[in-house]
Amino acid sequence: MHKTARILGLMFESKLPKRINVERLCQHLDRLQGQIFAKELPRLLDMVESIETPVKVLLDFKHDEIGEAIVSGFVEAKVMLICQRCMQPYCHEVTNNVNWAVVKNDTKAKQVQQQYDPVLESGNNELELLAQLEDEIILSIPIIPMHENLDDCIREPGFTSAQTITESVGVPVEIKAYSNPFADLANLKKQLTKQKK
Ligand SMILES: [Zn+2]
Repeated sequence: MHKTARILGLMFESKLPKRINVERLCQHLDRLQGQIFAKELPRLLDMVESIETPVKVLLDFKHDEIGEAIVSGFVEAKVMLICQRCMQPYCHEVTNNVNWAVVKNDTKAKQVQQQYDPVLESGNNELELLAQLEDEIILSIPIIPMHENLDDCIREPGFTSAQTITESVGVPVEIKAYSNPFADLANLKKQLTKQKK
């Protein structure tokens, strides 16, 4: 398993190519490391508030014992998302291991060894590298983005907390906001449905 770029202290100054010849890179046991700029990730950009750049990538290429084209490494990204509980932006960090077996068609994809994720080439041994890495990041974006800790949510007017109840009633009351996780979820669903309309 790869350690993160930070720990390895690697340089990621070069720009990654949009498309690569996987066969050639595997034959030479090459390594690609570099960065991706936000404007090269249009689908991801549509889903998030912003992408903190650079997105860092390190990939090693080889053939495994049965001749499959294997790409392994990691992608590191930071994106700003809107917390669906307090509607404030927060930073979501992505550190994904890449473990691809690049194949020519769906039939081959089904035969790929369990430890690899099958990835389809676009023809002529070429892989749409940036689009594939973009997919990796997109898959790690939570369906309902939320601050990990409730305490990190910024309290907006109307947000019921133990503190505001104490203030308005004048005596300490031990009520925690969102004490019922299912009520919380139901509220959230309502909010999301409203947003969709
Ligand atoms: Zn929040």
